[in-house]
Amino acid sequence: MKIGAFAKQARRVSTPYRVTKGSGFRLDKFDPGDTGGYGDAAKPRAKAALQAGIETLVELQDRLYAQDCWALLLIFQAMDAAGKDGAIKHVMSGVNPQGCQVASFKTPSNEELDHDFLWRCMKHLPERGRIGLFNRSYYEEVLVVRVHPELLHGQKLPDELVGRKIWEERYRDIRDFERYLTGNGTRIVKFFLNVSKDEQKKRFLERIENPEKNWKFSPSDALERRHWKEYMRAYEDMIRATASEEAPWYVVPADNKWYTRVVVAAAVIDALASLDLRYPKVSKKVLQELAAAKEELLGG
Ligand code: ATP
Ligand code: MG
Repeated sequence: MKIGAFAKQARRVSTPYRVTKGSGFRLDKFDPGDTGGYGDAAKPRAKAALQAGIETLVELQDRLYAQDCWALLLIFQAMDAAGKDGAIKHVMSGVNPQGCQVASFKTPSNEELDHDFLWRCMKHLPERGRIGLFNRSYYEEVLVVRVHPELLHGQKLPDELVGRKIWEERYRDIRDFERYLTGNGTRIVKFFLNVSKDEQKKRFLERIENPEKNWKFSPSDALERRHWKEYMRAYEDMIRATASEEAPWYVVPADNKWYTRVVVAAAVIDALASLDLRYPKVSKKVLQELAAAKEELLGG
């Protein structure tokens, strides 16, 4: 299938989950179990479509790299066990590793806490021509830190700068930062993998019961579930404050992994296809040089 036709299909699949305007956004309007009307029977077809989608993505990435002008930043946020790692792995499988950079953001180190909250992420922004993937990001600063405000005290901020408006101020900083990046050629696409509390419980139990998955589970993950409601509120407020046309959020249903991956791949294809990427055109002079080199090679 040609890129154009695929891009159209990718837009159709991803649009229902795309949020570009925060006002009026409600998380409860998005069903974590949604599979776009396709039942389990559609799974094999979805897998084939995903494979074809990935081939399109590989071609688009090749052009992105060759053109060396735009960068794409993909941000993944989610509750534990929502499938961030799997989505990143599947969607980016097959793309040229030279053209993408993954960064995971965990509890900040002392060195990181000695800087402003965007600092550690800035260091990992993708270069032109590359795709950058953030597994968690500066958005943790208005999620986990909001749910556990005691974390703020560890951030060594001057007291007078930590007021009641701190979250509003951080949203503003993030909006400004994303506008700045967009204006400099970095396209930003943000994913919230929307898993339900029940599905998360199922996946945790599986991690505990299956020895091969034990390593994925940490007892603190189960404790964090107690704050589920506060997290959902924080996610909702965050999306309301930071969704925009240039840096949209996708609220991706995450109770069915096969569908999560289809939607994420579709959104990435849509973002790349909208850039109208082309291989650089070679000048007349270079064409002449190529012809001369060919003659030299054949003659020699
Ligand atoms: P997985 O559990 O799938 O391996 P993960 O992304 O959950 O991946 P962990 O090491 O379990 O990785 O968790 C990282 C933890 O770091 C999360 O609990 C997250 O909330 C926390 N974290 C990330 N950024 C910040 C931050 N700026 N301040 C405080 N905690 C943070
Ligand atoms: Mg974790």
